Amino acid sequence: METEFDYLIVGAGSAGATLAARLSEDKTVSVCLIEAGPSHKHFSVSTPGLLLLNMVSKKRNWAFETVPQKGLNGRRGYQPRGKMLGGSSGSNAMIYIRGNKADYDHWASLGNKGWSYEEILPFFKKSEHYEGGESEYHGIGGPLNVTYKKEASPLNQRFIEAAQSLQIPHREDFNSEHQEGVGLFDITQKRGKRWSAANAYLDPAIDRENLTIITECIAERIIFKKKQATGVQIRTKSNQTILLARREVIVSAGAFGSPHLLLLSGIGAPEKLLPHGIKIQHTLPGVGENLHDHVDWIANYRGKRSLHKETVGFSLSGAANMIGETLKYRKDGTGMFSSNIAESGAFLYLDREEPSPDIQLHFIISIVDDHGRKLHWGHGFSVHVCLLRPKSRGSVNLASSKPSDAPLIDPAFLADDRDMEKLYQGARLTQRLLQTPAFDSIRGKPFYGTAEQDEARLKQDIRNRADTIYHPVGTCKMGSDKMAVVDERLRVHGLKGLRVIDASIMPQVISGNTNAPTIMIGEKGAQMIKEDWSGAE
Ligand SMILES: Cc1cc2nc3c(=O)[nH]c(=O)nc-3n(C[C@H](O)[C@H](O)[C@H](O)COP(=O)(O)OP(=O)(O)OC[C@H]3O[C@@H](n4cnc5c(N)ncnc54)[C@H](O)[C@@H]3O)c2cc1C
Repeated sequence: METEFDYLIVGAGSAGATLAARLSEDKTVSVCLIEAGPSHKHFSVSTPGLLLLNMVSKKRNWAFETVPQKGLNGRRGYQPRGKMLGGSSGSNAMIYIRGNKADYDHWASLGNKGWSYEEILPFFKKSEHYEGGESEYHGIGGPLNVTYKKEASPLNQRFIEAAQSLQIPHREDFNSEHQEGVGLFDITQKRGKRWSAANAYLDPAIDRENLTIITECIAERIIFKKKQATGVQIRTKSNQTILLARREVIVSAGAFGSPHLLLLSGIGAPEKLLPHGIKIQHTLPGVGENLHDHVDWIANYRGKRSLHKETVGFSLSGAANMIGETLKYRKDGTGMFSSNIAESGAFLYLDREEPSPDIQLHFIISIVDDHGRKLHWGHGFSVHVCLLRPKSRGSVNLASSKPSDAPLIDPAFLADDRDMEKLYQGARLTQRLLQTPAFDSIRGKPFYGTAEQDEARLKQDIRNRADTIYHPVGTCKMGSDKMAVVDERLRVHGLKGLRVIDASIMPQVISGNTNAPTIMIGEKGAQMIKEDWSGAE
């Protein structure tokens, strides 16, 4: 196998897959994409309704645990992350959300030139093929298929009505001018199948002669010549070797994987490296800091009557129903197996002084308990509520100098009392919404408490059960302050030939789900790399 390439990309996730495809459009350069996991070609990945399988199994999932969280009564959180071509876009819930205009204008106001909403919107549109058609806010002809409406469970209508009865406006499109409101989510699917970054970007590029994709291969360390990144040490099942980069090494290993690799390579704060015997390559105190995530709490209810046709659950009637659903899905990709389970949601203000909605709800046509790891017999529904701009900040650290050891992940959930207070207010609002008449005929027993629950008990329940809604970011943040890891062109400060391009560069998490924004970061990153090397031999 060739061992020298122009670009080495570590991680084939939402950002890495995008970069590999865009950079290899130029036939004069060679690109190598290194991915720890296997291919995405598996029915458990492509079938939307089976998304739970890759949340709990470890074959295509890093299945990280956090360090014990003081804010969660000492519990360890669970952090599933995709480990396959497509990364977490291969195991996520397929919701297509961009966040709020104010998020990107905030990034730009921090000094990150080129990242205002107006400047990043073209990259969202470039990536997109919107089945709803082209408009000021949507693109067509791009690789990422976004379906704008599909048959959803009738339960979603109840959720929408319930929210409207609380004066929450109906929203047709969360990704256009206004975000506040309730409605069905757009999703990254095509003809009833998941459309991950691997489907969108890698499948069409896979036969290019200038693109090499290595799966089941771990990047262990970045190699340097003084301050210039020159290669990556990799380990496959059979051997360890070094790949060389003529131009750049690009780290796209995700919000946990990217800081982990930088720390293993001696880039970080000396106090993080020296205890593990790692030689300091470059002092950069922000590596692994600023970890934050959308902390989330779930209300779940059993159905008052059997909901086996409208929800996903475990029952004899549900199993019988699934036979018909399987045939339907096989025939034309419709029915329950095409459902992303989280079909509708809402963006709401708890505080009108905020620049944009500060909580998000996800309505789930299933009983979701402990990330689906705790299964319950029967049918029901759940509502997630998460904080869109949490104040708590945590970190990613090394457990050891061994690349095979998972990093120490500390999201510091609810460490800041303001987060606890806001999540409590959000949980109250969620309970109110679930008590509205729209749910009266189907609302059975709650699993963990009721709307009448007093403040102390509800707060205790939040600490007992809150966890991630899977949007960790910020651990290699973009900026120019002393804790920034990359500059506005995503180059690692103080080093040459090294960029980080993925969700870890977000200085502050966007107000929504993070897949589309990470693909946008990949698109913009690819363009900046092309610009920076234009005219090179
Ligand atoms: C369960 C779940 C549900 C979600 N639901 C949604 C949703 O509905 N909508 C939405 O917008 N967002 C959702 N997200 C979030 C979204 O998918 C992620 O934010 C996004 O995919 C992150 O992209 P990334 O490129 O930063 O990282 P990833 O996509 O995670 O990619 C990182 C890649 O790097 C690889 N890697 C890591 N370390 C190494 C190494 N040392 N060597 C080689 N390879 C390595 C990994 O295996 C992985 O493939 C969800 C995430 C999860 C986990």
